[in-house]
Amino acid sequence: MSDFIPQPSCADPEDKNRLNIAAARQRIADLITPLAGWQRCPIRDALDRVLAEDIISPLNVPAHNNSAMDGYAIQSSDITAEPFSLKQVGIAFAGQPFQGEVDSGECIRIMTGAVVPKQCDTIIMQEQVEVNDDNITIHSQPPKGEHVRYIGEDLKQGEIVLSSGRRIVPSDLGLIASLGIAEVNVSRRLRVAFFSTGDELKSIGESLQAGQIYDSNRYTLFGMLKRLDVDVLDMGVIPDQKAPLRQALLDASQQADVIITSGGVSVGDADYVKEMLAELGQVDFWKIAMRPGRPLAFGQIDNALFFGLPGNPVSVMVTFYQFVTPALRQLMGEAQPEATTIQVTCTDTIRKRPGRFEYQRGILYIDQNGQTKVKTTGGQGSGILSSMSNANCFILLDEQCDGLPANSQVNVQPFSGLI
Ligand code: AMP
Ligand code: MG
Repeated sequence: MSDFIPQPSCADPEDKNRLNIAAARQRIADLITPLAGWQRCPIRDALDRVLAEDIISPLNVPAHNNSAMDGYAIQSSDITAEPFSLKQVGIAFAGQPFQGEVDSGECIRIMTGAVVPKQCDTIIMQEQVEVNDDNITIHSQPPKGEHVRYIGEDLKQGEIVLSSGRRIVPSDLGLIASLGIAEVNVSRRLRVAFFSTGDELKSIGESLQAGQIYDSNRYTLFGMLKRLDVDVLDMGVIPDQKAPLRQALLDASQQADVIITSGGVSVGDADYVKEMLAELGQVDFWKIAMRPGRPLAFGQIDNALFFGLPGNPVSVMVTFYQFVTPALRQLMGEAQPEATTIQVTCTDTIRKRPGRFEYQRGILYIDQNGQTKVKTTGGQGSGILSSMSNANCFILLDEQCDGLPANSQVNVQPFSGLI
C-alpha cells in the first residue's frame, strides 16, 4: 500500500483555504496607511503625480462673458422684425475689449474670446448676417444668449476644482494653469525595490545554458511601476539560496517603501522563501481563487510592504494589476477609481472550469457592422507572455463560470483603464 499523500496544486478544482480576490484586496487595504509626506512642485512636474491638496479656484473662469464665435454682439430685444438692420459702432478683439456703449439699434463686430459688452446678450455668427458698410442685416431672430460663454461657466471662484487624491492628467495641468496657479502640492514619490528569484534566470547580455531562460518579469514590473510614476530600484536576479535572498530582502527593506519579488512562492520552492520571510518580517502566504496567479505572499519587512508575486510571466502582470496597483495607489494617497469594465459579445468559445475567477486575455475589436466585440488571444497558459502583448483587455470570468459558447455576453476590462 502506498503512503503517498498528494500536495495541493493548481490543478485542484476546489481549495478550502483559498481567498477570493475581493477578500485579498481588502486584507491588503486594511494594512495600508497612506504615506505621509508631500512636495511642492511646478505644475508641469505634477503630471501623473497625486495631488496632496484641494485646488480651489481663486477666480471665475472665464473671467467675463465672452464670444464663442466670430460675429456681431447684439441686444436680442432690438430685433423686432425679420429682416432687421443694426448699426455697427465698434469692434472687440480677444484681449482688446470694446470701450464704448452699445445703444439700442446698434451692434459691434466681435471676435472669438472677446469680452461681450454689458449691453449685449447674444452673438450672431458672421455667416448669418449681410454686411453693407456700417450696417448689418439679420434675416432671422437668433435665440437670446446664443454663442455667449458666461462668466464662471467653467469654474466658479471658491469652488474645489480638483480634489486631494487625484492623479493629475494633462487636462488638469491646463485647468490649474487657467487659474494662474504655478505650483501644487503632490504626495512624495514612492520608492519600490524589486528582484526576480530563480536559479534558471539570466539577465540580458548573459548567455543561456541548457534549461536557462531570460528574466522577463523585471522588465514587465519596471514598465507597470513606471506607469504609476514611482521611483524604481531594480535589484536584479537573486538565486534560490538563503543567504543571497536574505541579503536582498534586507537591502530592499532599508531602501524602499515597497518590495516586490517574483517567483519562489509556489509549493515547489516556497519553503525557504517562507523561512527567510518569517525571519525578517511578517508575511502571509495566500492561495487566491484566481487564474492566472494563484500564489501570493503579502506582508511587511521592517517598514517596507512586501509583495511576493508568482513567477509565471502572465501571473506577475495579473497579480500586479489586481493587488499591487490598488495598494500602491492607496499608499500614494490616491482616491481609488473603479477599473472600467464593459459588457460585450465574445465571438469565441470560452473554455473554463468552475472554481476560480479567471482573467483571460482578449482582443476588443470592431466588427463589420460597427459593433464592439471581443475575441480571445488563444492559448491562456500563465507562461504565454505574448498573450498579454497581443491582448488589449482582460475577459473577466467569475468563479462559477463553466465555460461559455461563442456569442455569449462577457465583461471585459480594457487595459487602457488599468493605467
Ligand atoms: P516559480 O514561481 O518560481 O516556480 O516560477 C514559475 C515559472 O515562472 C517557472 O517556469 C519559472 O521559470 C518562470 N519564471 C519565474 N521567474 C521568472 C522571470 N523573472 N522571468 C521569466 N520567467 C520566470
Ligand atoms: Mg522559481
